[in-house]
Order: sequence, then structure tokens, then C-alpha cells
Amino acid sequence: MSVRAERYLAEIGITVYKRRDLAAARASVRNAPTELAADARAAGALAQPGSLAAAQPLPIAPTHEAWERLAAEVRACTLCALHKTRTQTVFGVGRRDAELLVIGEAPGADEDRQGEPFVGRAGQLLNAMLRAIGLPRGEVYIANILKCRPPGNRDPQPEEASLCTSYLARQIALVNPRAILAVGRIAAQWLLQTDSPIGRLRGRVFRYGESGTPLVVTYHPAYLLRSPLQKATAWTDLCMVRELLRKKA
Ligand code: SF4
Repeated sequence: MSVRAERYLAEIGITVYKRRDLAAARASVRNAPTELAADARAAGALAQPGSLAAAQPLPIAPTHEAWERLAAEVRACTLCALHKTRTQTVFGVGRRDAELLVIGEAPGADEDRQGEPFVGRAGQLLNAMLRAIGLPRGEVYIANILKCRPPGNRDPQPEEASLCTSYLARQIALVNPRAILAVGRIAAQWLLQTDSPIGRLRGRVFRYGESGTPLVVTYHPAYLLRSPLQKATAWTDLCMVRELLRKKA
């Protein structure tokens, strides 16, 4: 592990393995792809036709016009009642040709104010986690399932997610990422159309949509701020993403 990666891990509060523990830690990372293959097979049962993933459109031509049209539609959207209480829509941010697409659940108060996903303390932790696998925030694309903030930061309601989901589907098709990182229970359950707890969804690779894009689930950084002991677990999820991106397309 590079000194820089160690520094970022320390920054997000993860103890770096040294000496004797290093061999075991490396073995664990080396074994990950084998475990992933088995998990991916198991995951196939979740992403069957009829699920949201199966309905995901294939990649579409990522023209400037296509992006601008989509952004304008979102800005003007009044499909669900959340438009009445939002300060502004939160479309998404980052490289439009990113290899990694990060998907969260919905804007919070800071995001609603700034118009950008994952800002504030949770956003800073997410940025540090991404940097730790060599991906600065500007190198990925970040979006939410909902583009408007649910009042009081309540969970998104299924009908809100249903009404909003076509925007995210089009973002996924435009970015056409090599991997998707679903951040938090709500995002993971919606994308995979399952009610399995996040503890059973993380630590494996799913295949998303007709393009079969690898999808990894991890904990929401807001949860990690409340439960720092889980940061090491989240780190193993991020290592999985790193391995997926290292593989040849
Ligand atoms: S949450 Fe989505 S569907 Fe609801 S108003 Fe905002 S953009 Fe439209």
C-alpha cells in the first residue's frame, strides 16, 4: 500500500495493517475476486427480469444535448410533492464519462442548499474514501435516486422513487460506468429491488441492468460517522470497487 493510501486511510479513521497482519490482509484482498464470482452468481437471483435493474436502458449516446435536456427536465420537475419543499433540485455532479458512478438516496439539508450531492461531513468522508482508492471526487460521477430533498431528511417513499427513477436511469445510461457504488441501504435496496438488509448486500458484486454493470454496495458515510467501527468494513467494499476497475474492460 502506498504511503498516500495509508495517509487517506488514516484520514478516514481506518487502522492500517502492519508487519504480521499485513500478510493476512493482503491474502484477504487477493481472495476477493473468487468470493465475488460466487457472490455474483448469487446476486443474479436478485436482478431478474421485472426488477428495476432489468428495466435499465442500455447506454445511450452521451451528447451534450442529451445531458442538458435531462438536467433541464429535472430542474423543472413537479412529478412528486417534493418539488413543493425543495430549495432546488440536486441533479448530480462529476465526470460525465466516469468509470465509477456513486449513487446515494436523496439530498439532505446541505445538498438542498448547495445543489450538489454528498456535501457536508458525510460528503467529506465519501471524498476521503474515494481518494483512498485513487479516485478524487472529480473523477467519479455522483447522483442520488431522488433529486429533491425529502422534508426532515426522512426516507424516500417508494412512489417518490418510482416517479424519479427514470432520471437516474438516464444518468446511468449516459455515464455508462464500468462500476456502480450504491451508498447506503435505501440506494442499494432500490437499485436491486430487494428488502434484504444492507449487511447482506454489501461485500459482493451484483450485475446491474442489461449491460451487466458491476454494482457494489457499501455503507452510507453518514452511518459511518455514527458507527466508525464499520469503516474498516466499508474499506473492503471500496477495495472491491478498486479491483473491478483495475480489471480490463
Ligand atoms: S424528487 Fe424527482 S420526481 Fe419528485 S419532484 Fe423532484 S425531480 Fe421530480
